[in-house]
Amino acid sequence: MSIKQKILSRITAMFIVATVMIILIVSLNFREYGVNSATEKAEVMAELVKTGLTSHMVNGTMDQRDFFIDGISNLRDVEDLWVIRGENVVKQYGPPREMEKPRDKVDEAVLLTGKEQVVFEEEASRVKLRVSIPYNVTTKDRVKCITCHNAKVGETLGAVSMVFDISNVRSHGVSTIINILVTSLVAILIVLLVTNGILNPYLELFEGLKNSLRRASKGDFGGAINTSLTDEAGDMVASYDSFLEKLNNIFGEIDRKLRVFVANVEKRDDPLQESIDIVSQLSEIYNFKRAIEQDVTKEDIYQRLAEILKVRGGFINFTFSEIDQTGNELQVVFQEGKEYHCKDIICSDANKCRAKRVGKDVISTDFPHLCPSFESQEKEHLCIPINIGGNVGLVINAVFESKEELEEKRKFIHFIENFANEASPVIESKRLMKILRDSSLKDALTGLYNRRFLDEYVEKLAPQAIRHKHNVGILMIDMDYFKKVNDNYGHDIGDLVLKELSFILREGVRESDLVVRYGGEEFIIILNNIDSEDNMIAVAEKLRIAVEDKIINIGNEKTLKKTISLGASYFPKDTTSIWEAIKFADVALYQAKHTGRNKVVRFTPDLWTGESFNAV
Ligand code: GH3
Ligand code: MG
Ligand code: MG
Repeated sequence: MSIKQKILSRITAMFIVATVMIILIVSLNFREYGVNSATEKAEVMAELVKTGLTSHMVNGTMDQRDFFIDGISNLRDVEDLWVIRGENVVKQYGPPREMEKPRDKVDEAVLLTGKEQVVFEEEASRVKLRVSIPYNVTTKDRVKCITCHNAKVGETLGAVSMVFDISNVRSHGVSTIINILVTSLVAILIVLLVTNGILNPYLELFEGLKNSLRRASKGDFGGAINTSLTDEAGDMVASYDSFLEKLNNIFGEIDRKLRVFVANVEKRDDPLQESIDIVSQLSEIYNFKRAIEQDVTKEDIYQRLAEILKVRGGFINFTFSEIDQTGNELQVVFQEGKEYHCKDIICSDANKCRAKRVGKDVISTDFPHLCPSFESQEKEHLCIPINIGGNVGLVINAVFESKEELEEKRKFIHFIENFANEASPVIESKRLMKILRDSSLKDALTGLYNRRFLDEYVEKLAPQAIRHKHNVGILMIDMDYFKKVNDNYGHDIGDLVLKELSFILREGVRESDLVVRYGGEEFIIILNNIDSEDNMIAVAEKLRIAVEDKIINIGNEKTLKKTISLGASYFPKDTTSIWEAIKFADVALYQAKHTGRNKVVRFTPDLWTGESFNAV
């Protein structure tokens, strides 16, 4: 029930109670008045009858008393009137006439008790009042009763009974009650209308305030209240509205400013909640960023990003794929779960990946067979491209079992993008660092690792090989008479020949072996975990022959053939110092050069005349 209904219904109830009480009082008063006035009338009439009868007695005209009594009986409102003879009179003057006998118990009671009897008889159509008054012997009357009656004072000589019609009293009462009812009804209506008129603007204000506060509690401060009131309530509304406007401006400003930091936050109905979301995401992102800035490699960052997807998003199957600098190649760099359904072709042609090509989220439920490179028709996928250094550098691919699962996870897209975008510059710097580091460790001409890398590599290699009891073969290689190539064909051809040689060497050994350009046209090959010296020599021979057999095209339909000399040492058999082993290979190479070139020489202790290295 609204406040208005409450107030109006209470006022109505109060009026009804007051009306009922008034009606009750009025009707009781009317009844009492009717009875009293009829009784008084009866007493007067009884006295009249008594006096009349006494006159008849005194005058000796008692035989004419009926005429007198009939006359009085015909008076207005007198329904009936009769006189009854008491016992004493019966004894003295003889039995009563029929009409003078007691008619009922009331008459008998009056004669017996000498007391007035009043009986109220109410019927549906009319109201009667029966009054029976005794004639008691007194000495006060002018005509003394005892003059004619043999009676004592106080004895009852007879009585007069009268019946009055007092219906008009009741009908007056009823019409008065109807008047009161109509007046009350009109009064109630007037009061309700006036109260309603007074209450309405306050109640509208109250309703407006309620709605405005409800909107404000949801963060919507645009619910200003309008009121026509100019009193204190009007002042309050004006203050409230300006307070609301201030809040609206402040929160709008906060929201705008926060959005600068976190662009992709899910829109909410409640801007306050939205601001809280942004702030908590900001703090999360801040912590995330701080953590990844301390990370050493890109892989650490991917691991952290994956945690966000797993823990916050509940993603189960997803991969991160890197797109290389050229934008052509794609490589899966992180995988969570077993599901991955992209065609292999995207690895060599990254533009076959729709997310990479269009640079927008690809959501399989948006359109059937949206990405032709996604193979599984039963699964759903969501691919988010992440911009790194101005181009799509990373694609997050998530696979789901059902449309419902994907739809449920959709809401995390913005969230993930916010984190990934924060990670993007850090990933880029790690990527650049790697390129820089690779370039400092790799030889620009041949693409092989350089001597700096060998220094780092060998430091780690030696203890590992000893711990795992692996043998390492070391081949030191130098091209024979290379100077002549430069002299005869120029440096460019010399470079070309060096590249050809690098290619033959790289192709001629296992992936796990290391080929290093040691200097000029000298190379060193580390044969990891080689099982015998013979195998080491066999590999060296194979390389020597491969170079010997290679016809190098140097342009203008000219060709060249070159040979190499190789020195080989075996670690840790020859020495437990890896650097000494390298030196031994160099010594063996020197021997190969001096004994005819285009050959492999296995190091033997007799070749070494210098002092021993410290064991590593
Ligand atoms: P040997 O059989 O005794 O090894 O004779 P060689 O002519 O190969 O002699 P050496 O190994 O001393 O020659 C090294 C030459 O390699 C000297 C230098 O001109 C050339 N060289 C070194 N680095 C490069 C390079 O990067 N490009 C070119 N074109 N030549 C290089
Ligand atoms: Mg040489
Ligand atoms: Mg040389």
